[in-house]
Amino acid sequence: MTETRLRFPPSPTGYLHIGGARTALYNWLYARQTGGKLILRIEDTDVGRSTQESIQGILEGLEWLGIDFDEGPYFQTDFESDHIAAANRLLVQGNAYKCFCTKEELDAKREAASAAKTVFGYDRTCRNLSADQIAEKEAAGMPSVIRFKVPERSGLLGYDDKVFGRIECAYSEIDDFVIVRSNGKPLYLLCNVVDDIRDRITHIIRGQDHMTNTLKQVLLYEALNAPLPVFGHMPLTLDTKKAKISKRSHGEIVAVQFYRDNGFIPWAFNNFLALLGWSAGNDREIFSREELIRDFSLERINKSSAIFNYRKDDPKFFTDPKAMHINEHYLRTMGIAELGQMIEKELVAENLWDEEYAAGKKDWYLGTLALIRDRFHTLKDFTTLGRAYFADDFTVDAKPLEKNVLKHPGLQEWLPELADRYERCTDFTLEETEKIARDLADELEIKPGIIINAMRTVLTGQLAGPSMFDIVLTLGRDRVVRRLRGVKKPFQSS
Ligand code: GLU
Repeated sequence: MTETRLRFPPSPTGYLHIGGARTALYNWLYARQTGGKLILRIEDTDVGRSTQESIQGILEGLEWLGIDFDEGPYFQTDFESDHIAAANRLLVQGNAYKCFCTKEELDAKREAASAAKTVFGYDRTCRNLSADQIAEKEAAGMPSVIRFKVPERSGLLGYDDKVFGRIECAYSEIDDFVIVRSNGKPLYLLCNVVDDIRDRITHIIRGQDHMTNTLKQVLLYEALNAPLPVFGHMPLTLDTKKAKISKRSHGEIVAVQFYRDNGFIPWAFNNFLALLGWSAGNDREIFSREELIRDFSLERINKSSAIFNYRKDDPKFFTDPKAMHINEHYLRTMGIAELGQMIEKELVAENLWDEEYAAGKKDWYLGTLALIRDRFHTLKDFTTLGRAYFADDFTVDAKPLEKNVLKHPGLQEWLPELADRYERCTDFTLEETEKIARDLADELEIKPGIIINAMRTVLTGQLAGPSMFDIVLTLGRDRVVRRLRGVKKPFQSS
């Protein structure tokens, strides 16, 4: 069997969005599954719209996702001579012709067609110009484009799409399309095929929006005498109102960088993307890297549009809940050492990292992560909601204050009293610290909850969290005593 060769060819005209990342992922999965190669090609021929910033963003996004390439990045503009050579070959072979029709002439015909309520198609005026006629027009300095000469055949033009099945149309339905502009620049339809032939691409997995191009490209493959790759088109990604998702209407949440910058776990996000248009044929949602490489199949890509379930008017929907749910799953179940490395980056970024966390305090560090991760949603939560474990300058969340957890005036005396007892106790253990707090509540004839809820807020700034006395032991006697005494200072919420 020949080696499979796939490619991801983004046009660097914007950010790496969810749809693009999904395309990259599906190609990557198939290449890894089949032991083939994945090629990165930057399709930068639209010089006016391509930017260095976009290229950088795409490369960073792919790197964050962990989608690695075996070849590239190649840049399409470096291969312009190949594209021109192919266009010339098609001219020489009689598969293409020079067209001298002006924009004004074409516009007039288009308007006439629309007035007559017919569909405008290029009327092939220049298709059969003689060599003399062409020479005459060129001598007169008339500019020309190069059009592909769609064969006049009965029967149907078609190909087998791995996702959508047999796709066909009559040859007469395809216009003689332009392959080189009048300024000599080859167009995307041609460049894309020439590059795929040169890169010996065997499988093209791309968005459904390219499907109309594919039939034209099938003709180019035939005319260039190259074997047709396998095509599979992926459904579009729409929002819950069936509109195409875009940064303009949905904001940052459609960009891959958003997930990186908001503490998503790269593999969790890949896992989410995999399910956006593909399923294993059951309800299964969690796939490890190895499982997804093993189970992915082009045939199981959905035909119907994928829905990105995001409601921007509802603040509860930070992003698609499934993305969040999968992220939480990994956050709470992944190996603690691996999580430790991820959180190290977060702590470093917030100036909270202590080198000892990788040395003498390693057990404490990993144990603390294991204790606090159960209620967290993203990697960022460790330095925001979990800041009190790594620094003294944490803020108190609004929620406990709204619930009046610190309202009881007696707490101003009781918590410092508890601090004194903790300082004096000989046995700073789970059982003993709990007993001391409960005994104090008994003596004061108040519910233990009053003391315990206040402790949680004073010690961690949060209303909820791990079991209280686990927190006490994790923070350690010094910090607990200091914070309980600090209750005398007025509290400020974040
Ligand atoms: N440059 C095209 C795009 O970004 C890729 C088309 C293809 O995959 O063939 O949409």
